Amino acid sequence: MRTFDGLDFYDLDVFLTEEEKLIRKTVREFVEKEVIPIIEDYNEKAKFPSQLIPKMAELGLLGAQLKGYGCAGLGANAYGLIMQELERGDSGLRSFVSVQGALVMYPILTFGSEEQKEKWLPLLQQGKAIGCFGLTEPDFGSYPSGMRTAAKKDGSSYILNGTKMWITNGSVADVCVIWAKTDEGIRGFLVEKGTSGVKTSDIKGKISLRASVTSEISLTDVKIPAKNILPKSEGLKSALMCLNQARYGISWGALGAAMACYHIALEYAKERIQFEKPIASFQLVQQKLAWMVQEITKAQLLAWRLGKLKDEGKIKPHQVSLAKKNNVWMALEVARMARDMLGANGTAYEYHVGRHMCNLEAVKTYEGTHDIHTLIVGEAVTGIPAYR
Ligand SMILES: Cc1cc2nc3c(=O)[nH]c(=O)nc-3n(C[C@H](O)[C@H](O)[C@H](O)COP(=O)(O)OP(=O)(O)OC[C@H]3O[C@@H](n4cnc5c(N)ncnc54)[C@H](O)[C@@H]3O)c2cc1C
Repeated sequence: MRTFDGLDFYDLDVFLTEEEKLIRKTVREFVEKEVIPIIEDYNEKAKFPSQLIPKMAELGLLGAQLKGYGCAGLGANAYGLIMQELERGDSGLRSFVSVQGALVMYPILTFGSEEQKEKWLPLLQQGKAIGCFGLTEPDFGSYPSGMRTAAKKDGSSYILNGTKMWITNGSVADVCVIWAKTDEGIRGFLVEKGTSGVKTSDIKGKISLRASVTSEISLTDVKIPAKNILPKSEGLKSALMCLNQARYGISWGALGAAMACYHIALEYAKERIQFEKPIASFQLVQQKLAWMVQEITKAQLLAWRLGKLKDEGKIKPHQVSLAKKNNVWMALEVARMARDMLGANGTAYEYHVGRHMCNLEAVKTYEGTHDIHTLIVGEAVTGIPAYR
């Protein structure tokens, strides 16, 4: 099969700097060499390839968009290209890097004390510590402000009780950013590994993001020193700020999964012979490929423009919602189409498209479901919230 070289139907590379292209090339090579040969096996065994963490840290991929404490301080589009290339390998791998950088390092940098930043950011950036972000609960996903997890002040400590569900890296994390209700509203807390009263168990039997750890975290009378509260976190707004960072990365990441599926389907269609001709010569097959090119190109433009708005400090949450929802929907449709074009082979792990397709089902749901992002865009254009 021809080596993957992306898709650039509208010559969008002219918008990228030499540094951005170099970063893309570096991560693409890493994924080609270190991820693609092993990922199907890890996916089948439902294991996260943790040996890749030090390598990704060495490449500066963890918290690459942040400034200070050893982070690379990259621009939004360079960071987006990292997400794209990682998700070309696997959505679970991209999820790991998203959670670490956007949902753990970002809140510590933005809402944390100097002591918290100095303690955690270098370790997280070097991959020597793993983080997780606990917002979702068994009964509260799309409606996080209903959360039951509570933190009660007790002298110089807080006592946390509650359950967090579907938490990426929950059981392997050295530090969890746990969102809990206090008398002053929702706040973020740093719960460290080994704290008494914290129990984790992994969610088994997932059809999606199998090469990623997803856990339940239960907190029973967990005593946290007051210095572990994120002092500048203020209400659910702070948690949503973190989610917006991660959603931005997902809008790029989805492009990677889509481009992988497009590439595999195109190469397959040129080689697969039916009715004495390559299936790529049939109009219905070409229609599918043309649709993929059309939608990937539109999604690339959305992501690139969003990155520019982010760097200019003009990005709005509803713009992030539009890109997350469109690009993940597009990627899922491309993956489903690719799976179909590969016929029975599309259902086999070794052809990758089935794994991408299953992964994208979870990506469509997490970080705000497709429908919740539709409501965010709907509210932005009408001024009328329609969540209830
Ligand atoms: C693999 C994986 C990893 C995850 N990692 C994390 C993590 O690290 N940290 C974390 O905190 N969470 C994580 N999540 C949880 C994820 O963010 C939630 O699953 C998501 O927010 C949706 O919540 P829910 O599953 O409870 O669905 P629900 O909120 O119950 O939604 C079910 C359906 O109802 C629809 N719906 C809900 N409300 C409305 C409404 N007002 N109008 C119209 N439709 C509505 C939704 O769109 C959806 O289709 C993860 C999930 C998965 C699958």
